[in-house]
Amino acid sequence: MATKSTVLGYPRIGANRELKFAQEKYWRGDITVSELMDIAKEIRINNLNNYKKLNFSSVPVGDFSYYDHMLDMISLLGIIPDEYDEVKQDGSEDKYNLAKYYAFARGYQKDGLDLKTGEMIKWFDTNYHYIVPRFNKNTEFKISCDKIFDECKEAIELGLKPRAVLVAPVSFLLLSKGFNNPLSLLDKLLVAYQEIIDRLVNIGVEEIQFDEPFLAMDLTNEDKEAISKTYNTLKGAKFFLSSYFSNIDYSFVYSLNVDTIHVDITRCDSKELLSSLDNLSQDKSLSCGIVDGRNIWANDLNKSFDLLEQISSKIGKDRLIVCSSCSLIHSPVSLKGEDKIDERLLKHLAFANEKLTEITILANGLNNGKDAIANELTKSETNKKEYQTSDFINDSEVQKRCANITSKDSQRDSEFKTRREKQVKILNLKPFPTTTIGSFPQTNEVRKKRLEFKKGIINEEQYNKFLEEETISCIKKQEELDLDVLVHGEFERNDMVEYFGENLNGMAFSSNGWVQSYGSRCVKPPIIYGDISRARDITVKWSKFAQEQTHRPMKAMLTGPVTILKWSFTREDITLEASCKQIAFALRDEVVALEKAGLKIIQIDEPAIREVLPLKKAQWAKCLNWAVESFRISASGVKDETQIHTHMCYSDFNSMIKEVIAMDADVITIEASKSNMDILQVFKDNNYPNEIGLGVYDIHTPRIPKKDEMVEILNQARNYFEDWQIWVNPDCGLKTRKWPETIEALDLMVQSAKEIRKSL
Ligand code: GLN
Ligand code: ZN
Repeated sequence: MATKSTVLGYPRIGANRELKFAQEKYWRGDITVSELMDIAKEIRINNLNNYKKLNFSSVPVGDFSYYDHMLDMISLLGIIPDEYDEVKQDGSEDKYNLAKYYAFARGYQKDGLDLKTGEMIKWFDTNYHYIVPRFNKNTEFKISCDKIFDECKEAIELGLKPRAVLVAPVSFLLLSKGFNNPLSLLDKLLVAYQEIIDRLVNIGVEEIQFDEPFLAMDLTNEDKEAISKTYNTLKGAKFFLSSYFSNIDYSFVYSLNVDTIHVDITRCDSKELLSSLDNLSQDKSLSCGIVDGRNIWANDLNKSFDLLEQISSKIGKDRLIVCSSCSLIHSPVSLKGEDKIDERLLKHLAFANEKLTEITILANGLNNGKDAIANELTKSETNKKEYQTSDFINDSEVQKRCANITSKDSQRDSEFKTRREKQVKILNLKPFPTTTIGSFPQTNEVRKKRLEFKKGIINEEQYNKFLEEETISCIKKQEELDLDVLVHGEFERNDMVEYFGENLNGMAFSSNGWVQSYGSRCVKPPIIYGDISRARDITVKWSKFAQEQTHRPMKAMLTGPVTILKWSFTREDITLEASCKQIAFALRDEVVALEKAGLKIIQIDEPAIREVLPLKKAQWAKCLNWAVESFRISASGVKDETQIHTHMCYSDFNSMIKEVIAMDADVITIEASKSNMDILQVFKDNNYPNEIGLGVYDIHTPRIPKKDEMVEILNQARNYFEDWQIWVNPDCGLKTRKWPETIEALDLMVQSAKEIRKSL
């Protein structure tokens, strides 16, 4: 027997986002569903052939998805609501009823139908989004899709041993919404899972991978009982139980009736893990998630190999499996073709394919002795050393600045009350001031010009001239609408993180490092590789230009430190906190430069601040603490007179209202239209002291809001806040909207504010 190796899952989008382009073509009606399925098959076969070369003991199958793996479970278990059956199929063979599947994923407004989009939320602390299952007490499960069975057959035909991947029953139930007692459905659900297992076994599948991410969350006794029951009830195959994204309660997990337990070694304490192994019974194997599936750094092979050897000496190498920490869907596919990344950085990177190689190297070392991988170990050691000491990543100025942080750095000169008095005098705004969140429609024209500039078809001067015209026209429109605080429109920005990253030292960009965010949407996160500082003015030129076009106050627009951090790949050699504070200082320099350039209002967006929360509640306070401090560092370099705004576009403030208050922005803009007024209660209960802009309409749909709805929201808000606190704005930026609906909606929004003013 020998050490085995595998991964928990692999990117499904294809090396060049083939799945994305095929999906979108299908949605537009340019290809049929069977053509889409052919393209999907090509991607899968390609992935399977990739595995073949690696000699994996078994390979994950069923992790491929046409949209999302939670939606796949919803479809497999037959709980997409019946009304979605009404959607038209395209006439070609739609074996998995993808027409219905996509209608549920994306909503369907055609042929007289108006079917809502299934709700989508973030998958734990990642940037991947899943479709939320909804249950009620009468929910029945019925196996309704052959996809996973067909895919297992496909792998067997290629001579591979499939390990069928299922989201485990309890995690599936706990990830749901809309029913307060999902675990009461467990018995029924287990019957369905048993049927799935039986069918898989019939095909020739020997092992099932149960993804049970809830193992890494804070579990109640009831959750634990349900999980124990699951593995005591299900039978018929070997069970591979996987947890990831945080450490687990070893004694509980080891007690479960499964054959293999997977731990995310990148996110657990290795000492604790090692000592737990004495309690891992002889008949269980341990899958060691030692190659980080969520990052892009080459593995420290020496460190990993040492640890694996220690584990092996405790449990024996034949009970050990070398694995990725989680599914590789969270990392880009391949470094091949990345010719624009600096050589000095490139050799430190590993995307999914390179991670597969690392796993194989480590398993090879365990099986054939350290000498067998001596070259790889030496190379890894040299690289790691070089990285740590390289001028390329180290900036002593930045390090010194961060080492000398004092509480003054995160403190405005005066408290809010004093600041407000000064700001009121300077800004001289009407009550219930109106504003927007920053971006205005990114039209095809804007995108086209950006591309032409990137390709060299137009030069910088021509591009800038175009941007000037767009900005001027956007400002004119806002003046005509009679908005009180204007924005420049963000036409020069491709993306709210990338635009900043390109102007910060210590951040790099790949050409093809796409990661699925949801459905066909992929993001290309920047890579934070070194100490961060501001390379040059970032937003100053456009903000200053915009302010010069109008007598009304212009609000400058920045992405905040936490959001830049969270939407990037981060360093492993220093803490997130350290990187975040470096970004905070870089932004502080920009904020000060904006003030100097004459801007009186500066908005620092933090839509991602909530995403710093790790899986375990016990760690929340610490993370929020440095997140808030970072925001404050970026905001505190300016005079009292300068008004700092922040924007957060989600509705769940319950878990962090104290921290939101502690951010001490002069004005915060939030969403309020969708969540009714529930969201405001928590602000009121905590006596939110500063000013607050209510997102009075939902920008995520083209629907034009009614004036009365907005007046109603504002009137309601007056029960929660003092009049002087309230601002009026849409709930997020307008870049995804079209101009005509934007004008119409904003006009009604301004009218609603005027109506309130009249009544004062
Ligand atoms: N200022 C950004 C915009 O208006 C904010 C985007 C966001 O909150 N995600 O687009
Ligand atoms: Zn927003």
